Amino acid sequence: MTYTLHREIPVEDGYDVVVAGGGPAGSAAAICAARLGARVLLIEAQGCLGGMGTSGLVCAYDPMADGEKMLVGGFMRELVETLYARGFTGPRTPPESWRKNYMCWTNFSPEGLKLVLDELAVEAGVEVRFFTKVIDADADPKAGVIRGVVTSSVEGYRYIRAKTFIDCTGDAILAGLAGAPYRQAGRDTERIMPATLTALFSGVDWSENTMNTQTPEAVELIEKEYAAGNFEQCDRLLVGLSCSGRTYGYLNGGHIFDLDACNVESLTKGMMQGRRIARQNMEFFRKYSNNCKDLELVCTASVIGVRESRRIVGEYELTFDDFITRRQFPDQIGLFNKFADVHPYSCDREVYEEHMKEKIHSGRLNPGECFGIPYGILVPKGWKNFWVAGRCNSSDVMVHGVIRVMPSSAMMGQAAGTAAVQSVRTGQSACGLNTLQLVETLRENGANLPQKELSETMTLH
Ligand SMILES: Cc1cc2nc3c(=O)[nH]c(=O)nc-3n(C[C@H](O)[C@H](O)[C@H](O)COP(=O)(O)OP(=O)(O)OC[C@H]3O[C@@H](n4cnc5c(N)ncnc54)[C@H](O)[C@@H]3O)c2cc1C
Repeated sequence: MTYTLHREIPVEDGYDVVVAGGGPAGSAAAICAARLGARVLLIEAQGCLGGMGTSGLVCAYDPMADGEKMLVGGFMRELVETLYARGFTGPRTPPESWRKNYMCWTNFSPEGLKLVLDELAVEAGVEVRFFTKVIDADADPKAGVIRGVVTSSVEGYRYIRAKTFIDCTGDAILAGLAGAPYRQAGRDTERIMPATLTALFSGVDWSENTMNTQTPEAVELIEKEYAAGNFEQCDRLLVGLSCSGRTYGYLNGGHIFDLDACNVESLTKGMMQGRRIARQNMEFFRKYSNNCKDLELVCTASVIGVRESRRIVGEYELTFDDFITRRQFPDQIGLFNKFADVHPYSCDREVYEEHMKEKIHSGRLNPGECFGIPYGILVPKGWKNFWVAGRCNSSDVMVHGVIRVMPSSAMMGQAAGTAAVQSVRTGQSACGLNTLQLVETLRENGANLPQKELSETMTLH
């Protein structure tokens, strides 16, 4: 049954760029576009910027260097250096973690990140709207154009017109509403990578090391606690507790299997299960990690940590082969070196063992190596004034496991914001953008793009 509701909605106009979602990708897109002089509206469903890094309590950036030098430049580099200068990086995280080291994470304070992003957005002149959701789109998929979006907030509905739009919602919400093509985990693939509800814990004595939960001995303990009824599932991959502040840490622990991020019932059950698992993990660490005897669960995140939901079908789809051959592209907008982080799809022992084998043997680049992220993965196929950045980029499942993370999302965001401004200024469409010009502007704004060969058109295969 359906119901037709007629409403007169106030119209707002005059924006060059509307960005949906203010996570790592959306914040970068909006701030970088505004710094280039565009009038930018950033619409964010929660009450802060940062996305998974703040609302999701994922308090560490994935590796940004290759063991010799920093690969990630531009806005992301500026952000992490600002966090460091303000005392918001973790006390056990030296600058080499992001500037040089191989496979090294950069911990930060989620509260510090909120503050810094607020400041950077305001300084750049971004109009930020919290507690506002994009709920519909006025689009012509055949022409590849979005005319406006409908938002919902405490003030009711608004129709917002703009010249260009960027979807940084993680779940390709705007792409779906606009009728742009996407692949959805669980619908177009057999499996969905599990989600995790991340949590903050206090009472950690960081003068001692926390137990390494990814050893055969730790897996035995997990099996033992499951057999004793202290874990509700035998989930052998417990990523671990890491240091975000002097006495607290964040736990990336416990999987919620088969969670469908595009289904409210599934999300609701997942949040409830995530909260139970966080308590079970607290008991586990108290029992087995010497520095966690006084561990207290401060809070779980207010949004669930989704690893996989929708990925758009873009002008280019980045493949595992591109990653493993360390492919460089003339139109690349960022460089990266991280392993293919595809989590086990179930609690089965064989699935876990297969996962560990793959993680160690196949999906890795060596120190000093990197691959390029091409522009075409940000453009829904055939669209003219619409980009997608961050987790919902166009890539296959394996390489998505490499680039769905925060530093690469921020690089994609900066590129999408820069491309949107170029499009507004020159009349070039998203799918017909001069990528040589884009790369030059990104370089001027700090991006690390050393490719010698450049091209005016994007890579299509
Ligand atoms: C458990 C877990 C652990 C992880 N660990 C790490 C790690 O250690 N390091 C790392 O770098 N990455 C990690 N990641 C990956 C990373 O956090 C995300 O993939 C990354 O944040 C994606 O960035 P994004 O900007 O695309 O999306 P998000 O960070 O998800 O941001 C999307 C934003 O859009 C908003 N939004 C959604 N829908 C709407 C709407 N309709 N209207 C308005 N706003 C909307 C959301 O509120 C959110 O703020 C982890 C992910 C998970 C799930």
